[in-house]
Amino acid sequence: MDSSSRIVQGLGRVVDDHIAWLSQWHQIAFYAGPARAAKAAELKAPTSFLQWHERAQETLASQQPVLERLCALHEQLHTSARLVLMRAPEDGNMPVEDYEKVLARFDEFVTSVRRLERAFSEAAAGLDPLTGLRTRVGLPEDFNRELSRFRNAGTPCVLVMVDLDRFKSVNDAHGHETGDKVLVAAGNTLLRHIRTYDDAYRMGGEEFLLMLKGLDPNAALPVLERLRAALARMDVRAPDGSLLRLTASLGFTAIRAGAALDELLAEADQALYRAKRDGRNRIVRA
Ligand code: GH3
Ligand code: MG
Ligand code: MG
Repeated sequence: MDSSSRIVQGLGRVVDDHIAWLSQWHQIAFYAGPARAAKAAELKAPTSFLQWHERAQETLASQQPVLERLCALHEQLHTSARLVLMRAPEDGNMPVEDYEKVLARFDEFVTSVRRLERAFSEAAAGLDPLTGLRTRVGLPEDFNRELSRFRNAGTPCVLVMVDLDRFKSVNDAHGHETGDKVLVAAGNTLLRHIRTYDDAYRMGGEEFLLMLKGLDPNAALPVLERLRAALARMDVRAPDGSLLRLTASLGFTAIRAGAALDELLAEADQALYRAKRDGRNRIVRA
């Protein structure tokens, strides 16, 4: 089992335990009377989250910000739930803002757990949670299939590395969320311009790989030119209402007998580097 599948294990239990815990908290919160303090003292936070967190840290080796954030949300939820019960007047109703604060923290925690669960499930399935494109996890297997096709039937296959130009400036000027919107839009544009049996991968950051099957590398330029133009036409609205335009650089090579995946990726990368160096928004063949 890979690390993504291991992380996901136990998260369902964390959510279930917290739903049960909230229902107990509710009962205590609405139990006005001297026994409330005693009941509140008995209410324990479920242990499943901390157990899960310990395992997740071992599995991931490095402490990820997403885990830290989840830990902080968990801590805040239980702290505010405890405080609100302590502060509530013994013989009266608890202030509605206090009650709502705990519910909001609960919502935020559970939503974050579910988001994490979805992200890691998708990663385990070889899909990038942001764009829905493939990740490099399945790439070697897909590549070997195309390599056999080339060897057995001479079917060509073009590998294209696509990198957004000056993408960092989008994050810097408009924030990371807008950057993410651009990545989603770029992924969709790529998918719209390749055929259904072609493959698109998000290699990391703002870098994508296309595997264009059955395409003769000598006929690739006009195809890639349409793609480059489509990316340059794409517009994404920034939070201030302005429309963002951005270009991409492309480097490509083709499958050939005797060349390993790493070798071809390095070639496409070098071609991409030349496209950047020559002014960006262009296509270079290895
Ligand atoms: P160049 O034209 O040379 O490619 O410049 P660039 O700014 O596109 O390239 P650079 O590699 O310097 O910057 C890539 C940036 O992409 C830096 C990083 O913060 C950002 N980035 C990486 N992954 C993500 C992501 O998932 N979301 C967002 N919003 N930004 C990301
Ligand atoms: Mg870039
Ligand atoms: Mg890059």
